[in-house]
Amino acid sequence: MSDDKQSGMPLHFRILIALVVGTIVGVSINPGAIELPDEQITAALKVQDGDGLTVDMTEPSGLESVRRRFQTQEEFQKALSLKDDTSAGGQTASALVSVTDRAVHIVEAAGRITIDYTRQHNGQPVSTTVKVGSADELPEHWREFHSQHGGGWKRSLTAAAKYGGDLFLRLLKMITVPLIVTSLITGVAGLDNSRFGAMFGRTLAYYGITSMLAITTGLIIVNIVRPGIGAELPGGTEAVLHGGDQSLTGILLGLVDNMIPTNPLRSLTDSSFLSIITFSIIFGVFIVRTGGETARVLRDFFQAAFEVMMRLTMAIISLAPYGVFCFMVYATASQGLAIFGTLAWYMLAVFLALVVHSCITLPLIVKFVAKRSPLEFARAMSPALMTAFSTASSNGTLPLTMTCVEDRAKVSNKVSSFVLPLGATVNMDGTALYEAVAVLFIAQAYRGDMAIAEQIVVAVTALLASVGAAGIPHAGLVMMAIVLQAVNLPLEAQGIIIAVDRVLDMCRTSVNVWSDSCGCAIIAGLDSSSDGSETS
Ligand code: ASP
Repeated sequence: MSDDKQSGMPLHFRILIALVVGTIVGVSINPGAIELPDEQITAALKVQDGDGLTVDMTEPSGLESVRRRFQTQEEFQKALSLKDDTSAGGQTASALVSVTDRAVHIVEAAGRITIDYTRQHNGQPVSTTVKVGSADELPEHWREFHSQHGGGWKRSLTAAAKYGGDLFLRLLKMITVPLIVTSLITGVAGLDNSRFGAMFGRTLAYYGITSMLAITTGLIIVNIVRPGIGAELPGGTEAVLHGGDQSLTGILLGLVDNMIPTNPLRSLTDSSFLSIITFSIIFGVFIVRTGGETARVLRDFFQAAFEVMMRLTMAIISLAPYGVFCFMVYATASQGLAIFGTLAWYMLAVFLALVVHSCITLPLIVKFVAKRSPLEFARAMSPALMTAFSTASSNGTLPLTMTCVEDRAKVSNKVSSFVLPLGATVNMDGTALYEAVAVLFIAQAYRGDMAIAEQIVVAVTALLASVGAAGIPHAGLVMMAIVLQAVNLPLEAQGIIIAVDRVLDMCRTSVNVWSDSCGCAIIAGLDSSSDGSETS
C-alpha cells in the first residue's frame, strides 16, 4: 500500500532520520548524572555458617538496603575495608562503609518519578532504581534531594519525550490483539488442513534451529572475547531482581498452561498472547473443518475485520517516526555515558554476536533456503527493525512487522499471520544469545572460564528463558535469573548489567524481530516450493 510514501519520502527513511535526530537531541540535552557528596554509612555485618558472609547495608535515608554475600573472609574484608573486627563467626557487628561516586538520574514522566543511581561501596559499584508515584512518597532525605535536582528544562524535556514515546507504544498495543485475532483466523481459515500441519512443523523447527544457532554464536564469541576475565563484578540490590526465580519445569508447564486458556475472552482482555494464538488457530482450523456456508460467512467476516485492522494499523504506523524520535531522545538523554566504560567488553561481545547472527547466519538461510535476496528483504523490513530498536518491544512492534512482511516484502498473509504472532512470543534469537553471553560474562568474572558441560546447561536454559520471555522491554533480563540459577551463579551479579540493559535490549529486540521476519520468508519459500513439487 502506498501509505508508505505519504509524505514523499519512504517510511524507513523518515524513521531513520527520526532515529538519528532523536539521538543527537538526546545526547546534547543529556542532563548528566548528579554527583552526590561522599558519605559514610553503617553496615550491619552478619556472619553465617555454611552460607558465607552476608552484609546488610542501610542508607541513612532508609530508602534502600543492600545485601551482598561473600564466600570467603578475604573477599569480605577486601570489599568492605573493615574498620571493626568482625572475624568472629556467627556474630553480628557493624562497620563503616564509605560511599563514593554516587551518580544519580531523575526522570519524571506520566506521573511517576524514577531515580536511577549507581554508587561505589568501597570501590564496588551497585546500581539501583527507585520508582514512586509522587515526591511525597519519597523519604525525607530524598524529597529534599528531589526538590533540589528534579525539574529543569532538560529533565522535563526528557520526561516529555518518554511520554510521547509511550503514547505511540500505547497506540501500537491498542491494535495488537484485534490484529492478531483477525489475521490469524483469516490466515488459518484460508489454509487447507494438510498444509497447516506442514507449516506448523516447519515453523517450530525454524524457531528451534535459529535460536540454537544464535546461542552457539554467543557462546563462541564470549569464549573468544572473554569479557568477564578480570572484570570486577559488584553485588547488586536484591530488590530489582524479583520475578524470574522459577524452575525449568515450572517454565515449561507454565507455557503449556498458557497455551490452553480456560477462558479465551479473559485471555483477550489480559493480552495473553500465547492463549490468544492457540485459540485463534484452533478456531481457524475448525472453521475449515466445519466447511460449507458457515465457513464462508465466518471467513468473510474475519477477512473484512482484518482489512479494517490493516487500514488502522497503517494509519498508526505513519506516526512511527515521531514515536521513534521520542524514544531515542529519552533513551540517550537518560543514560549516563560513564557506565558504558565499565562494561565495554561485555557490550562488545553481545553486540558482535548479534551482528554475526543477524548479518551472516540469518541472511545465509534467507538466501539459500528462501532463495531471496537478504539485502532487499532487510530493506523491506527496515521500518519494523528500526521501531523494534527504538521501542525494545517485539510485541509493540508486531503490527508494523506484519505490515512490512506483507506489504513491503510480499509474503502472504497465510504465512505471516501464523509465523509472526507466535514468533513475537516464543522465537527470540537475540534474547537467547544475550542470556548466554551475559551469564558466561558473569561466570567468567566470578570464577573464570566455564566448563563445556556447564555451557551446555546455559545453552538449554537460555533457550527456554527466551521462549518464556515476553516481547516487552527488559523481559530477557528478568528471565536471566533462571539461567543463573541453573549454573549456581548469584542473582546479585545482575546488578551492574542492568545499567546497560536498555541499549542491549534495543539491539536484541531488532534481532528478535529480524529472525521472525526471516522465518516468514523461509516458511513462505518452503511452502511455495512444496506447492510447486505437488503440482508438477
Ligand atoms: N525486549 C525484548 C523483546 O521485546 C525481550 C528481551 O528483553 O530480551 O523482544
